[in-house]
Amino acid sequence: MARKLAAGNWKMNGTTAELSEVAALTAAISDATCEVLLCPPATLISRMADMAQGTGLKIGGQTCHSEASGAHTGDISAAMLYDAGASHVILGHSERRADHGETSEQVAGQSAAAQAGGLIAIVCVGETEAERDANVTLNVVGTQLAESIPDDCDLSKLVVAYEPVWAIGTGRTPTIEQIAEVHDHMRSALTERFGQGADDIPLLYGGSVKPSNAADIFAVSNVDGALVGGASLKAEDFGGIVSALSQA
Ligand code: PEP
Repeated sequence: MARKLAAGNWKMNGTTAELSEVAALTAAISDATCEVLLCPPATLISRMADMAQGTGLKIGGQTCHSEASGAHTGDISAAMLYDAGASHVILGHSERRADHGETSEQVAGQSAAAQAGGLIAIVCVGETEAERDANVTLNVVGTQLAESIPDDCDLSKLVVAYEPVWAIGTGRTPTIEQIAEVHDHMRSALTERFGQGADDIPLLYGGSVKPSNAADIFAVSNVDGALVGGASLKAEDFGGIVSALSQA
């Protein structure tokens, strides 16, 4: 797995009409030196995976169930995502934690299921604004990290994304110093728990990343890429972020 990754999260956006953005993106990233991933709604995974064949683009899911199959109406398994052409899956996004009450323990189960199903798990953590104001960011992120990653995790199939909840979709970003503090803390915590193998886990920053701030964020120590929401919907914007990461 390459260490540098630009991952786009389309959330609940996109139908057939928006597939034109994927065609434009594959052209825009032809010179990219980082890994590029788009995570569309499950309904588009298969078609996007077909379009991505032979290009540098990878396709992922936005969540998966911790069980391999069964009576879970509306859910999707890791094997289904893999079968549709996904290589990665986002887990524990703050919108899943808030909208669906997903706990870190459940995210750990999903991570194990994702890896068992052949996927790379992108585990998301991040503090709320109230937690940052209360000066407990490192505790919150450290606890989420500890509880969302299973002990027997395959580190070669793990990506971690730090996404301050208050920075998602708001246009606000932490300072460079705040991003560096959390990413250094995550790297140390992962190394303490898993040993030197944790040095190669890609650590992404997410929260209002755009072409205009990407280069500054990618220059931060222990930032290996980005998880991008809004700016991943347009090939031009996401292409700009990919190009900033390629040059970082
Ligand atoms: C996200 O939802 O993961 C995200 C980072 O969103 P945005 O880039 O729109 O802030």
